Amino acid sequence: MMSNRVGLPKLFKYFFGLSVLATLCIAEVSAPALRSFEGVEPHMGTLVRIQLYAGDAGSAESAFRAAFDRISQLDGALSDYKPDSELNRLSQSAVNRPVKVSEDLFHVLETAQSVAVRTDGAFDVTLGPLTHLWREARKQGHVPEARALRQAASHCGYRKLHLDRANRTVLLDEAAMQLDLGGIAKGYAADEALAVLKKTGYRSALVAASGDLAFSDPPPGRRGWGIGIDSLDAAGQPFTSTLTIANAAVSTSGDSEQHLDYRDKRYSHIIDPRTGMGLTNGLTVTVVAPTGIESDANSTAASVLGCKLGLAFIENQPRLAALFVERTIGRSHLLESTRFHKIGDMN
Ligand code: ADP
Ligand code: MG
Repeated sequence: MMSNRVGLPKLFKYFFGLSVLATLCIAEVSAPALRSFEGVEPHMGTLVRIQLYAGDAGSAESAFRAAFDRISQLDGALSDYKPDSELNRLSQSAVNRPVKVSEDLFHVLETAQSVAVRTDGAFDVTLGPLTHLWREARKQGHVPEARALRQAASHCGYRKLHLDRANRTVLLDEAAMQLDLGGIAKGYAADEALAVLKKTGYRSALVAASGDLAFSDPPPGRRGWGIGIDSLDAAGQPFTSTLTIANAAVSTSGDSEQHLDYRDKRYSHIIDPRTGMGLTNGLTVTVVAPTGIESDANSTAASVLGCKLGLAFIENQPRLAALFVERTIGRSHLLESTRFHKIGDMN
């Protein structure tokens, strides 16, 4: 029997008053012996929700504490908003000289660079000068000046970021470079929160950091976690595509939450590294992957690549499945990758 069906983005709709085109929600059932508990805390500029199964509220509480503490620790390392984060200190100190970094930061940068290489730079964590310019532009309500865009773009490029696995060091080619892990850090934090829970014996859990969701073993007595991806079909009618997954992650990227509306165009907070501009393709991409770090980075990358190139890219990556929702005036166009079609249950 189905019990509570929790609309995750509804939570965010409620808090931020935003409407989301492709949204994720979760339906699950608890077995009699264990109860489902939920913890919510603000981290990484959003609300993070954890759901787990425990015998009593006290043990659930201490599990939440350990998982949220791990997320907070990662935010301290990976944030580009916190001036003294390990990431920001690295952007200052690693110019033309190798700087040793934590295993967490190295792993995230290494994964980011591998996605950058595979997507020919569509995913690029060196876009800091541009993402900061656009952040300011969203506040001011207008598109950045062409000169400022050119200037910022000249200090970006994933080939200017060099990693040395053997020494776990990072080197940057230019002083004005700025790293931004906004497209990958939440997915990694979700993975790591699940890992903490697993270590303390909570093997069935979900961590949801805004559009990045990671799941461990299925809820007790279930085949998997049910996820509903709410969207609009080609005729503009609402429908839900459902997935049942476990030990996997799902991320959605798009312009629904952070964007700038300027002169009849919607500019996403995702930047096209080829132009330095916020995306205007009206695309929302949901990627399913074995881990959150992969689903997060690749959903951002696929958004940049667009429907055609993005779908071709996803089809070539055996670890990934994706749903593309392209919004045009009054209607939406849906494209599923082959693997998404196999695991999904469109209705
Ligand atoms: P969300 O933060 O809403 O989960 P994404 O995972 O798609 O969305 O990440 C978007 C963020 O990633 C931006 O706010 C910015 O910090 C960063 N970013 C923007 N464009 C790119 C890009 N082309 N490659 C990598 N990171 C990007
Ligand atoms: Mg992402």
